[in-house]
Amino acid sequence: MKLNIKNIRYLTPDDWRVLTAAEMGSRNHEIVPTPLISQIASLRSGTGVHKSISNLAKIGLIAKVKNAKYDGYRLTYGGLDYLALHTHTKSSTIYSVGNQIGVGKESDIYVCASDTGRQLVLKIHRLGRISFRTVKSNRDYLRNRSSGSWMYMSRLAALKEFEFMKALRREGFPVPEPIGQNRHTVVMSLVDAFPMRQISTVSDPASLYAELLSLIVQLAQYGLIHGDFNEFNILIEEKTISTSSKSSAEDSEGEEAREVSLIPTIIDFPQMVSIDHPNAEYYFDRDVACIKRFFSRRFCFTSDDPGPFFNDSIKQVKKRLDVEVEASGFSRKMAKELDTYMKGVGVDGDAGGAKRDDDESDEGEMEDNKAEGVLTLEESSTDDTEAPLTAREPSTSDQTSSM
Ligand code: ADP
Ligand code: MG
Repeated sequence: MKLNIKNIRYLTPDDWRVLTAAEMGSRNHEIVPTPLISQIASLRSGTGVHKSISNLAKIGLIAKVKNAKYDGYRLTYGGLDYLALHTHTKSSTIYSVGNQIGVGKESDIYVCASDTGRQLVLKIHRLGRISFRTVKSNRDYLRNRSSGSWMYMSRLAALKEFEFMKALRREGFPVPEPIGQNRHTVVMSLVDAFPMRQISTVSDPASLYAELLSLIVQLAQYGLIHGDFNEFNILIEEKTISTSSKSSAEDSEGEEAREVSLIPTIIDFPQMVSIDHPNAEYYFDRDVACIKRFFSRRFCFTSDDPGPFFNDSIKQVKKRLDVEVEASGFSRKMAKELDTYMKGVGVDGDAGGAKRDDDESDEGEMEDNKAEGVLTLEESSTDDTEAPLTAREPSTSDQTSSM
């Protein structure tokens, strides 16, 4: 679904109260009975609630659901987006929202700005959107989950991503600066770089390759495996360093020497796993294999060195960020819930895309997803069904930039 913020400024304080009430009610009601919304909102005027409800329903923040037992409303993704944005605005984290720069399988990415004009990224987690595409059993699985699970799971994914980003950043890993988190959203610094997927050539693939594999090893030494370490989740910034002052004296031609260095930034952490995970080695090897495959296909670069290997990497554990994060708010129970959910619905990060490197079928697949989404996103949903599920990444052929 698309974030449509044009109505956000026109909501009254009563509307916000009613929207918040719908959210609270949906924690234990899939369809929140209208009297319960009124009761939680406890507006002074009784008619105010109904005015607000109809206002919110008109702009798609809540959706009316007729049920055999009772009528009520459910909060839509749009409603949750508004609540999160409202909180980010009140805390002065976000001042304005701009263009959408990414449509992931499980997220939407927008550029936004702080009140000082700093460019930021708003990542809205949308678990349960594309996941509906997988087999019928997954849809049943979702349907049988406790109410509001898409909301809860999206919130868990955002919380997990934020906590890991903070920990990694603190330890000096190249990740965006985490700025804020609320509900299913994360705000972080905008990295001025292209995903590696969009890069067609590099002058020195060996050093970039070594650096990326070393990052996988370093992550393991801090207790972590990214789990989705691929060309979509590695942003590459090109920095030109002038070495003229040093070289001009030595250089017979007197030409200015320039060196281009490629600086990777790692993003996308909801599927991060601990080195204690029962399948840790599998995930580690898969991350390594992703990089090897990509470098071989895209840059025709293959290293003679085997590895790195999981067991070698964890011989020198320097710190346990997995344990630290668990203690700081993203609990083991939450990790397990999210893990089970992601597995249950077949969420496997971007790795599926990586396997299909150089194949142009992304768009077709997304179209299928859309059809499935219509089927399963609850019938009353108007906002979700009109979602343009376009391909997440441009195809390589015409969008790559050369370095
Ligand atoms: P998903 O979980 O849906 O894959 P990602 O976090 O990987 O979401 O983001 C999707 C895309 O959005 C990335 O491939 C990248 O192009 C862009 N993106 C995400 N975060 C940033 C950021 N902080 N700075 C710049 N671009 C970003
Ligand atoms: Mg990604």
